[in-house]
Amino acid sequence: MAALIGILPGDGIGPEVTAQARRVLEAVGSAGGHAFELREGLIGGAAIDATGKAFPEATRQLALQADAVLLGAVGGPKWSDPAARERPEQGLLDLRAAMGVYANLRPVRPHPALADASPLKAERIAGVDILVIRELTGGIYFGRKQRDADSASDLCSYTRPEIERVLRVAGQMAVRRRGRVASVDKANVLETSRLWRSVASELFAREFPTVQLEHLLVDAAAMHLLSRPADFDVIVTENMFGDILTDEASMLTGSIGMLPSASLNAESRGLYEPIHGSAPDIAGQGIANPCGTILSVAMLLRHSLGLETEAARVEQAVSAVLDAGLRTRDIAAGGSQTIGTAQMGEAVLARLRA
Ligand code: NAD
Repeated sequence: MAALIGILPGDGIGPEVTAQARRVLEAVGSAGGHAFELREGLIGGAAIDATGKAFPEATRQLALQADAVLLGAVGGPKWSDPAARERPEQGLLDLRAAMGVYANLRPVRPHPALADASPLKAERIAGVDILVIRELTGGIYFGRKQRDADSASDLCSYTRPEIERVLRVAGQMAVRRRGRVASVDKANVLETSRLWRSVASELFAREFPTVQLEHLLVDAAAMHLLSRPADFDVIVTENMFGDILTDEASMLTGSIGMLPSASLNAESRGLYEPIHGSAPDIAGQGIANPCGTILSVAMLLRHSLGLETEAARVEQAVSAVLDAGLRTRDIAAGGSQTIGTAQMGEAVLARLRA
């Protein structure tokens, strides 16, 4: 049966970058004889304009049926009125909730040809290859909120099953990588972190005895990410710490347009998206970098369709393009000639077909 892949272009540069990623998916499908059914849906501002809803019912049905969903980005000034009843970003939160994606994976592997784009010295980022896994559906962002005129509170809570399932993803990924996991918490202060830490120790001893587990306090982890980033393999942490650490880690590469992400649920059905937003400042100009979305396709092939060889081929094609010196404007070295979104997609396709 053909794998059903939902494509949600969204707003701003979303349609521009997903168009190139779609071509890559089609090329992988026809080269390997894989049957992919690609079906587009509306989300975000585009969906509000067409239907009045940021996450219309037809998109919900598509997300629930699909083996994987590829998203561009949502949002933009046209829909940013704080008083508006429907906001594009809510469409993304509803999509994540509908798919039950609780483990957010962000690989951070600076490409050697782009070392100059990082704010860190080249020797410090040499050899960096980190997979950050953030718990996505629990913790303080989802706890009960209370507010009166002079006080406010946000409840942070986690259950053992919520912690176990995301730690298990970290263990499974570490076994396929270099066998090390840093579990990040604030166990010297927070009760949820003390539960997190003891569940991690028990689960890794029981299910992943060969994986080397270290516990790190989040403040120390933030420091070590900059002082010794190459020492990390897999980092796993709760929702809010992960929100902050994934953004910090992504800056090691210095180029937001390059980075992919995956959000997985219990059945490995996943939501795949570049980490950047809809970039209204450059939308419609054909200059956005499609590599983060194309590399999200590689993650989709790997994690939801089990096509590791094809995933690696897509990643190698992107690397070859960068090695050849081809650059969109965001990753260009001063004064060098740049190419547009479609040309970058075409260059990746040419390497894939070679
Ligand atoms: P942004 O990521 O859209 O843009 C930040 C900067 O990076 C801009 O200068 C932009 O031009 C540049 N940039 C981003 N992606 C690029 C690419 N592929 N190629 C070249 N340059 C790129 O973040 P923002 O400006 O804070 O947010 C803009 C809109 O996107 C807002 O409405 C925000 O809510 C939304 N947003 C959506 C998502 C999402 O859909 N997952 C994530 C973040 C922000």
